[in-house]
Amino acid sequence: MTVRTRFAPSPTGTLHVGGARTALFSWAYARRHRGKFVLRIEDTDLERSTRESEAAILESLRWLGLDWDEGPFFQMQRLARYKEAAERLIAAGHAYYCYASKEELDAMREAQRARGEKPRYDGRWRPERAKAAGLAAPADRAPVVRFRTPEEGEVGWDDLVKGPIVFPNAELDDLVILRADGVPTYNFGVVVDDLDMAITHVIRGDDHVNNTPRQIHIFRALGAPLPRFGHVPMILGADGERLSKRHGAVSVTQYRDDGFLPEALVNYLARLGWAHGDDEVFSIEQFVGWFDLAHVSRSPAQFNPEKLAWLNQQYVKSAPEARLAKLVEPALRALGAPLERGPALEPVVALLKDRATTLNHLAESATLFYGEHQASAALVEEHVSEAVRPALRMLEARLTETPRWDKASIGAAVKATLAASGLKMPQIAMPLRVLVTGRTQTPSIDAVLELLGRETVLARLAHHLQAD
Ligand code: GLU
Repeated sequence: MTVRTRFAPSPTGTLHVGGARTALFSWAYARRHRGKFVLRIEDTDLERSTRESEAAILESLRWLGLDWDEGPFFQMQRLARYKEAAERLIAAGHAYYCYASKEELDAMREAQRARGEKPRYDGRWRPERAKAAGLAAPADRAPVVRFRTPEEGEVGWDDLVKGPIVFPNAELDDLVILRADGVPTYNFGVVVDDLDMAITHVIRGDDHVNNTPRQIHIFRALGAPLPRFGHVPMILGADGERLSKRHGAVSVTQYRDDGFLPEALVNYLARLGWAHGDDEVFSIEQFVGWFDLAHVSRSPAQFNPEKLAWLNQQYVKSAPEARLAKLVEPALRALGAPLERGPALEPVVALLKDRATTLNHLAESATLFYGEHQASAALVEEHVSEAVRPALRMLEARLTETPRWDKASIGAAVKATLAASGLKMPQIAMPLRVLVTGRTQTPSIDAVLELLGRETVLARLAHHLQAD
């Protein structure tokens, strides 16, 4: 048997980290078993579905590296298939037309509530009941199609994540499978599609557990073998509530725009509700090699932005400089950094990457090397005392004369200045840093000076020291 899994987002918003985690697990399961991963867009909610959401979802999946083998298939392009399947069910007595009006259904539910019963469709248009009650199809009303759910017994499955689950059929009513306009409801579209697309493993969020018994009945009525089902627990925010916008960034594109690396987000999502021993940092290839549903936790996972930021930092640290330089360049340009007037980006990134949590932080710290950075008068006054100025001028002279401009020569010039002036390293390093970069925090000052280049360093020192 070839394993076939799918991801079936509704294009009613961007791809949320919860959806991305479901997609990742479904994708990894297919890859692990050398199967196929199918992408299906469930666009039957005509009011809420948009092309923008659809584009954002596809873009997010691509960015994460979750490639699909088939699709995207669109439900709205498959209406003929649902109609045909519904007609087959009607012919076999598993489904029927229902003409009940909205007002009638509302009144029915109201009466049930008044009797203290759970509101449910009472099966009044089941053909034998309609006939007994003398109901005739009104000519002016388009019917919906309802599925005839068994009224007795129970339905269950052995969930790949949660273990055996059973529902009494009495809890289910005759659900609408095809609306009057020919658009299928979720439970019907999903079954016809999973069947047509030969899905063997349905891996999805556990918010769908209640739908699965209905879907199993429909699979059976269509005479189809059942796929296996695996329901992955939800992701919660730190407050124990289901993760939502209230908890901060939740969409994949937001993380991308905030300067996260896709492999860091994938690694984080993989660890969210699944574990391989104590492994925290691993590649997507390792994940595919290890992934199984048996180790998916049965309880909800908690989203921890600090841990994600930590992971991202690990990935930024170990990413090749050439790649980082390429990724950071647009952000730096957006910050207005004139890249032509400054050192090459690769060595700059190499110097800064150990301290950056995101690509955006990296870009911000790299602005140090591009454009003008005059220290403010206040900063100069705070850090550059009169006492240290003679030593700085001495250093300026040494830096002018040193034959080579590299870290070692710069370090030697600083040391010689310390020896001659009797000052200690921090007494000169901080004023030097402030005068040359306009900041109090930078990587080691000799490395910064080397990259800035002699001309820039001397011009900035001169600017501050010439008035003396
Ligand atoms: N369109 C459904 C959703 O986004 C898919 C559920 C399923 O995978 O069956 O929740």
